Amino acid sequence: MTAHDNAQTTQHRAEVSARIKERARAEGFHKVGIVRAEALDVERTRLEEWLQRGYHGAMQWLARDPVQRTDPRLVMPQARSIVVVALNYYTPHEHTNDNATGKISRYAWGDDYHEVVGDKLKSLLAWIKEQWPEAEGKTCVDIQPMLDKAWAVRAGLGWLGKHTNLITREYGSWVFIGELLLNLELAYDSEPVEDHCGTCTLCIDACPTQAITEPYVLDSNRCISYATIELRADELPAEVAANLDGWLYGCDICQDVCPWNHFAQPTDEARFEPRPEMVAANLETILALTPEAYAARFRRSAIKRAKLAGLKRNARTLLDHTPKKDNADEAD
Ligand code: SF4
Repeated sequence: MTAHDNAQTTQHRAEVSARIKERARAEGFHKVGIVRAEALDVERTRLEEWLQRGYHGAMQWLARDPVQRTDPRLVMPQARSIVVVALNYYTPHEHTNDNATGKISRYAWGDDYHEVVGDKLKSLLAWIKEQWPEAEGKTCVDIQPMLDKAWAVRAGLGWLGKHTNLITREYGSWVFIGELLLNLELAYDSEPVEDHCGTCTLCIDACPTQAITEPYVLDSNRCISYATIELRADELPAEVAANLDGWLYGCDICQDVCPWNHFAQPTDEARFEPRPEMVAANLETILALTPEAYAARFRRSAIKRAKLAGLKRNARTLLDHTPKKDNADEAD
């Protein structure tokens, strides 16, 4: 290949990449970057160390295959590029501290993000196939074994905060991440975003169960979010149960205190508007749910991840740890 051919190829890839990014924004994504589909060696070493410490708790699927989890070519062998997208889900509603209700994590207030992000990625892939019929792709939203946050950092969408969530300068950490694997060679983003956590330790200090054991390291075993969503056990761990701070499903404490979330902007994605009683749910109502009522109430909602038994366990734990009014009065 001559130098002229090389230059033409480079220019062509840059043009295709620019058009894909433009289309991704037209689909509604708030941030987009493109990186080469290759193994994440440094991240794999970190993942293996984290697994060795047992910080994944009972999430055995994370330990199943760290090599596959860090090499997208094992998810799609013909992958050459990854389009990494972020979708802002912030809506300006706030929790209250009503003991009769349990707080629900912000990410689960509206429609299930797997569907919202997945629909947009599928639409983007369909458009790419129309433009370049040789294109093949695979959409990834959380379910596939991909290190979403690592790809987002690599694609220049933001940096990993000390609380281990992705932080973007424009939307804070209230973003969902998705990927589109493509068999096309494209032009790649290589400008990492600087870590802007600095000397701040607000998230580490605010966590009521000390789940952030050191900056950038989370012990899931101590995490309220993990315990209330992922843990399949009849009882929550005692330390988590005693420090739930009103959380029924998930926990946003480390993100709520983060100064970068003071810059949050309301999303323009209507499907993330909270459904009725989704910012917080009445605990007695949750305890009375039948399987049918549960399925109807949380249809197409991410909250189903906790299962009905998990939600009831969380509601029961919150009620058990609520100070009884008479006792509280006596103590005053
Ligand atoms: S609270 Fe502070 S340390 Fe934690 S992620 Fe935000 S900026 Fe970083």
